[in-house]
This record gives sequence, structure tokens and C-alpha cells, in this order.
Amino acid sequence: MFDVDGVIIDVRDSYHRAVQETLKHYTGALLPLERIREFKFSRGINNDWDLTVALIRELGYEPPPYDELVEVFEAYYDEFKEHEKLLLPRELFETLKEEGFTLGVVTGRPLRDLSYAFDRFKLWEFFDAVVCEDDVPAPELRKPHPFPLHACVEALGAEGGVYVGDQRADAEMVLSYRKLYGKDVKFLHYAVVLPEELPAHFRAASPEELLRIARLEAGPAPG
Ligand SMILES: [Mg+2]
Repeated sequence: MFDVDGVIIDVRDSYHRAVQETLKHYTGALLPLERIREFKFSRGINNDWDLTVALIRELGYEPPPYDELVEVFEAYYDEFKEHEKLLLPRELFETLKEEGFTLGVVTGRPLRDLSYAFDRFKLWEFFDAVVCEDDVPAPELRKPHPFPLHACVEALGAEGGVYVGDQRADAEMVLSYRKLYGKDVKFLHYAVVLPEELPAHFRAASPEELLRIARLEAGPAPG
């Protein structure tokens, strides 16, 4: 199972710029992208709308109503979304499918933004289950809550697996999923955009390493 932002897709020039511009819209301050990323990753804030709210507060301003902020944010995202690039090549997913892997997606993206990227990069065909923001019934059930991962595992009918993510919220989601549901899902930290240390079962920094770990994990069961 895969996270999208920072794993499949490079969002440094899309979501991170949308955060930057939305923040400027409400506070007048233009924060360097590096600062925004640092804040995001050190606080472990997965959702970029929540991140923008937290940054507005951090700068000493009162955030606008949430829905209004989301609208402004998404308009900026539309401006920048064509800058997105693939971090993992389609060939990796082709290979995994050919080798019999069942693949799923667990992302905080709203379906609208996910569809844009998955249509554009032609990724839908690889995934048997997709869980996005629209499938999560309440904000408190977003990552790092295990709900989205649970929904994906159940939709796939899996007994375990590997979740590939890039952030602390991903690591925490897997940990609490294991505690709550007792199924053997392991966390693979895909450390390309962000070399931060995270508690993880595996760590990969290239598609080749990721494939090698997937093959090892899928190897013949002991006994
Ligand atoms: Mg991510």
C-alpha cells in the first residue's frame, strides 16, 4: 500500500507552494518553502489544509473559516498542480503487478486532486483499492489515525502487507494500526524527499530498493 504525496508524487512544487501562497493570502507573509517543510515535518502535520491553519496561527493570525481556507488553497493548488512529477516510475507498478502484488493507496488527498494526478500519470489501473480524504468520515479519523489504513486493508481483503510512506504521520498510522487491529502491516519509509529518521521496518531511497524489499517481504512464508 502506498502513500501518494512524497512517495508516488513529488508535491514540492504543488502542495507546498499552495501552502505558501494561501499563507501569504491570509497573513501577507511569504515564508520560504524550506521553512514550511521544516514546520510540516517537525510537527508531523500530514494534512496540508491543517498545516496552513497551524502556520497562520504560528504567525499570530486568526485563521479564516476552514471551508473558506480550503477553497482558497485548492484554487492555488490548481495553479501549481501541473508542476507535479512522478517520484516512483510507472514501470515499478507494472513490475509489481506482473509479479502478482496486490496494490492499494492510502492518501490524505481529496478525490478531486487524486484524480487529477492519477488520470494524468495513468496510475488507476495498478491499484485494487484507493482510500482518500473523501473516504474518511471525520477529520479526527485522518492519518495518523489507523482508520484509512484499516479501510484499505479490508478493501484489499489482505491479512498484512507493507505501507510505504514518507512522514511521521505514516509511521504512527502503521504503529497504531498494528496495535488496534493486530494485522501484520509493516512500515516502509520512502526517504527521498525527506531524509528524516522515522521508526520503520524498512527504509528505501530508490525504486530499486523498494522493489527489492517488496520481493523479500513477499518471499515464501516460513514453515
Ligand atoms: Mg506523504
